[in-house]
Amino acid sequence: LLTMGIESSCDETSVAIVAEGRQVLSNIIASQIEVHQVFGGVVPEIASRHHLSNINHVTNQALVQAGITMEQVDLIGVTYGPGLVGALLIGLATAKAYALAADKPLVGVHHIQGHISANYIEHLNLEPPFMALVISGGHTNIVEVTGYNECRVLGKTRDDAAGEAYDKVARVLGLGYPGGPLIDKIAKEGDPHTVEFKRVFLEKDSLDFSFSGIKTGVLNYINSEKQAGRAINTADVAASFQQAVLDVIVTKTISAAVKMKKDKIVLAGGVAANSKLRSMMEEACRRQGIALYYPSPILCTDNAAMIGCAAYYKYKSGITDDLTLDAIPNLPL
Ligand code: ATP
Ligand code: MG
Ligand code: FE
Repeated sequence: LLTMGIESSCDETSVAIVAEGRQVLSNIIASQIEVHQVFGGVVPEIASRHHLSNINHVTNQALVQAGITMEQVDLIGVTYGPGLVGALLIGLATAKAYALAADKPLVGVHHIQGHISANYIEHLNLEPPFMALVISGGHTNIVEVTGYNECRVLGKTRDDAAGEAYDKVARVLGLGYPGGPLIDKIAKEGDPHTVEFKRVFLEKDSLDFSFSGIKTGVLNYINSEKQAGRAINTADVAASFQQAVLDVIVTKTISAAVKMKKDKIVLAGGVAANSKLRSMMEEACRRQGIALYYPSPILCTDNAAMIGCAAYYKYKSGITDDLTLDAIPNLPL
């Protein structure tokens, strides 16, 4: 069964062809990072326009690279939320047009379900149940995954997402956009214990997160150092910020797995590409006897192969959508 996946929820226009849900025949990703870099963040209207001008070309490339024609596609899966509404609509309109014209079944995919599914592509033997840490530009969730199409959110951020915190702190440090990969890199040269930023654990036993305070913490630290006439070591501050955020994330994810008796933890979303997160999780999981899974960096950030994979499993369980499928910008998990 050949699935065409389509993703356009934010600033990546992506189309993929996936065989039997897990084998990637093509995964074309047109990133708009350079377009939005000058603005220091994604500008929704500009994102929509670029999706529109890219989508047909990206779709054709996905077919050509997979060596198939539209007639050979068995299923079309598309992200219908959450995300920027104008951006989502371009992918949806494309998916619906192909579904109608080529008479193919259509399946709407939750973007975060897609991020989790990236792990099925990378780890061919991975099956639910497991505990998932979804950590991306807009989400920070601890999710109990009980089946390919069933999950329960045990914890979520009450304010900023982890990726958002990375991006905001990078901006404060003058590193540029997107900040996650830049902090990841520079933090390697810093001492993570230069500044002990507050670790926000919230109530006892809570699996929720709060990251909005740490940006202020970093700002206050920079200002007080400047006032005292001391130079700022960017690498030290980046490493200290990262350590504070990851201490909380790793602790909560492990305790969720232990509490729910899960012997597998799966990382998903853009921040799952972070090298420090990976090494801290590796060590914590080893201590607890938990198996750890994460996708390669290119499958952590937005791509259509993960959407094709998630669509395949929805279709297998009998779920399809019709042409009334609409974009839902704040779609809950
Ligand atoms: P969502 O999936 O929640 O809708 P999104 O699609 O915008 O949001 P992703 O594409 O999953 O987010 O991830 C982008 C985020 O990942 C950005 O915040 C980026 O800074 C962060 N990120 C990417 N690579 C790294 C890294 N190596 N270390 C830390 N953060 C990273
Ligand atoms: Mg993006
Ligand atoms: Fe995403």
